[in-house]
Amino acid sequence: MTDFLQSLPGQRWAGVDLLDYKPSGSAPFKAISRQVLIGDDTLACELRYFEIAAGGHSTLERHDHAHGVLVLAGSGACLVGGEIHPLGTHDLVRIPPWTWHQFRADAGSLLGFLCMVNRSRDRPVLPTESDLEGLRADPAVAAFIRT
Ligand code: MN
Repeated sequence: MTDFLQSLPGQRWAGVDLLDYKPSGSAPFKAISRQVLIGDDTLACELRYFEIAAGGHSTLERHDHAHGVLVLAGSGACLVGGEIHPLGTHDLVRIPPWTWHQFRADAGSLLGFLCMVNRSRDRPVLPTESDLEGLRADPAVAAFIRT
């Protein structure tokens, strides 16, 4: 990759492909795209930009690796562990290892965020029925999650 990627309108960058969030059918998600902004093999991390269209959501998942998230555009909310946080531009979110997490865009707005992650990482784990039962014990979490 080159050392400089010019920003383009609408949270795009010159020479960066607009990718599917995940292979379709591999996990539950809705209306989300992925761009790998910095994926250099001399770094231990990658910087990606995800954009969730209005009303869409990321996968409810957890894994051994952590995420560092910076909201760049729009508004939405996230579940981290048992807590739901509203999200707006420049909010920062840390997802600790093995913590359930899910991002949602508001009904009337996209949600765009940078996500820093280890280049070498374990695969996300989806919730079992028993995990979902535990999560749904909190009515606010039950109302938030999408599976
Ligand atoms: Mn994740």
